[in-house]
Amino acid sequence: MKILVTGGAGFIGSHLVDALLFRGDEVIALDNFFTGEEKNLAHQAGNGSLLVVRHDVTEPYDYPVEAIVNLACPASPIHYQRDPVKTVRTSVLGMIHALDLGRRRGIPVLQASTSEVYGDPSVHPQPEEYWGHVNPIGPRACYDEGKRCAETLCADYRRQYDLPTKIVRIFNTYGPRMAFDDGRVVSNFVIQALRGEPLTIYGDGTQTRSFCYVDDLVAGLIRALLAPADFAGPVNLGNPREFSMFELAQLVLRLTGSKSQLRHLPLPKDDPRQRRPDINRAQAILGWTPTVRLEEGLNRTIDDFRSRLA
Ligand code: NAD
Ligand code: UDP
Repeated sequence: MKILVTGGAGFIGSHLVDALLFRGDEVIALDNFFTGEEKNLAHQAGNGSLLVVRHDVTEPYDYPVEAIVNLACPASPIHYQRDPVKTVRTSVLGMIHALDLGRRRGIPVLQASTSEVYGDPSVHPQPEEYWGHVNPIGPRACYDEGKRCAETLCADYRRQYDLPTKIVRIFNTYGPRMAFDDGRVVSNFVIQALRGEPLTIYGDGTQTRSFCYVDDLVAGLIRALLAPADFAGPVNLGNPREFSMFELAQLVLRLTGSKSQLRHLPLPKDDPRQRRPDINRAQAILGWTPTVRLEEGLNRTIDDFRSRLA
């Protein structure tokens, strides 16, 4: 297939592009390099099946493709809060431009939504039926509400224009190639541990997340993309094993052999207390279950960070 991946030079995007090329697909990766980097796809240089285009998805685009995966959007709180108005524009205008191209060509559009649509959840674990608990005017809202509006657009283009849109809600994903300055917890802890710097725990460290290794996530994305047209989602994609940030810090220290201390910093506003996906729907509809345990995924991530630091 000819597949267009927006945000294709980012962390998840570049892994998805690799997997699609490996499958034999042709890929166009659109990216404005806000948080992604050309070097994430440098190993594919010379591959005639890949075209990397610098483009901002807040502007329309048109390519003769057979499917679209819309990943363009900064995903780390420090990056999406840097220019919050731009984050909303990226989510909403970027979604409209993907859907309009989908409509012109009559092709599926897969939207990378997020567990953040559940906000600071009062239902735990989070099933897709839960409508969420989001502060619409807080510092995370540019991302959360932007992604919620993008879901609305997918649902309405399907209802109004019969477009085969598909929504997946991605839970915290980590792995090799995360940017050193990404700012999310796994990359922060790994780089701090390897540099012998204190691990920065925001708040008391009892808040929880469930971490999915990137290869598992990419396998789920491809299953969702190839699912029949009547598969609309939303479907949660994540690893249901839940850890506190304190447990994660201890595990990173053990796996790196680091003697780093822990440093407590203030908890950011509206930081969700807990998060764990209910993945029954992904298992039933997509036949997808993550297989990489946190310890194994962290070891691969640590190896990657170690070699890049060297
Ligand atoms: P990332 O920041 O590495 O990737 C985002 C990519 O989008 C980058 O390459 C960036 O340059 C590009 N981008 C941003 N704004 C753009 C614009 N206006 N035009 C074109 N390109 C633009 O983050 P990631 O972790 O790879 O996340 C990818 C997608 O998955 C995002 O949509 C994110 O919301 C979603 N997601 C990720 C996670 C996660 O844990 N990694 C969780 C939930 C959802
Ligand atoms: N966090 C932390 N130290 C860091 C970065 C993040 O303790 O250096 C915490 C953060 O407050 C949150 C959790 O780790 O409770 C996950 O944060 P991340 O930014 O990775 O993802 P998100 O909040 O979007 O789930």
